[in-house]
Amino acid sequence: MKKSSWMGFMFLVMVMFLFPQIGHAAGGGTGIYLDGKALELSKNAQVQNMSGNVMIPIRVVVEELGFNVDWDTKTRTVTIQQSDTELKLVVNQSTATVNGNKVSLPVAPKLMTDTVIVPIRFVSEQMGLSVGWENTSKTVYLTSPDSGSDNGSGNNNGGSDGSGSDSNVNDTANLANVSGISFNNNQLMIAVDKNVKPNIFKMSEPNRLVVDLPYTQFASAFSSNQSLDSTMNGFFDVTDYPDVSKVRYALFNNNPSTIRVVIDMNNAKNYTLINNNDGLIIVDLNADSNDNSGNGNKLVVIDAGHGGSDPGASSVTKKKEKDFNLAVALKVEKLLENEPNIEIVMTRDSDTYPTLQERAKLANSINADIFISIHANAGSATASGVETYYTKSDSLALANVMHKYLVQSSGLSDRKVRTKSLHVTRETTMPAVLLECGYLSNSKDDAVLFTEDFQNSVAEGIAKGIKEYLGM
Ligand SMILES: [Zn+2]
Repeated sequence: MKKSSWMGFMFLVMVMFLFPQIGHAAGGGTGIYLDGKALELSKNAQVQNMSGNVMIPIRVVVEELGFNVDWDTKTRTVTIQQSDTELKLVVNQSTATVNGNKVSLPVAPKLMTDTVIVPIRFVSEQMGLSVGWENTSKTVYLTSPDSGSDNGSGNNNGGSDGSGSDSNVNDTANLANVSGISFNNNQLMIAVDKNVKPNIFKMSEPNRLVVDLPYTQFASAFSSNQSLDSTMNGFFDVTDYPDVSKVRYALFNNNPSTIRVVIDMNNAKNYTLINNNDGLIIVDLNADSNDNSGNGNKLVVIDAGHGGSDPGASSVTKKKEKDFNLAVALKVEKLLENEPNIEIVMTRDSDTYPTLQERAKLANSINADIFISIHANAGSATASGVETYYTKSDSLALANVMHKYLVQSSGLSDRKVRTKSLHVTRETTMPAVLLECGYLSNSKDDAVLFTEDFQNSVAEGIAKGIKEYLGM
């Protein structure tokens, strides 16, 4: 895991000085979506519009985007840090620094009654998120880079994966052309001339299914066959399928060039994506085939972190995190295998490396009820104890239950339930947590982490937590 022990401290400092009240309340006004998930903004953390710039409270940057943030009251400087990027913004100054280099801001950060607000587009783009804006609904869409490396060990043992650099993202020769969009047989069909990796998510109130097509543009012939206005927006009505009323599409983002197709739904429906890289992307609404509600069993995905080419963190005594994670995951599986109403699905049961995307996709595709990722942490030599991470607010209840048992069963110190934007807890559609079962970088934790007793106890704790959460 990432070395982030100081972040917890910084987070606490921020919370104490800047945000006396914490809590989530339903927000109105401008919405923010991160990778398709609506961010829940508390009442006093609402988005503001200042001279055409959407401003977000710094709290949102910490809690929802998961960046490390430091606030210096004396100099009124906000420092935002993530990976190799450090942004410094000063209240009322329209110049910021990015890794020490001066850049001008569209609008200066402002000190509000209990927080600082910063321009969301500037901060997000500097931090590698792409930013889209839907004017009709006044909604900000943030998309994180699809590397998904936010929960990796930082070791890139595989070397180049051929994904190349992003410097030419808008080189139109590299973009796939979308030549047609249609809806037939209760299927959305999108014709493309290159391989495209769609990003699909559901939105509610009203129910929509959103299909983002990164690195695409409308083919020049598109507008001669289908409606497309000069602002690159078009739609058609769907009358012959009861679940769908309309299909809309637009050039939604310029960097990278992204077409968004929205299916306006009359009813929330599940979908199946069929993408065989054969020129046709199909979003099939026919079968609720992934529905697992039939037998009343609860589907639990157990995710042993890292594996294969990705060893995860390395312990003081050079043991590998991936081996700890797998050992505990297999014990949890064993403990629950005879539980009548629980079905366990493992993201891996040997020393292999499913990508983070594959892990989340697996859980989503089977409509799992909960997702539990097992890890061990690394940080400074003195950091010791257990942490439970979650991203979406619907995962907090699960996080609390799991953490109670993790503390109890590990006997290590309680480093609390924490929120962080991690791929597997963010991209999964069900309550999802990531357990950090101790610090490999701490000699005291390391001494117990690889013992049978400790692993058996923690696995029992995890199994108990699962059962309690599922009401068994
Ligand atoms: Zn890990």
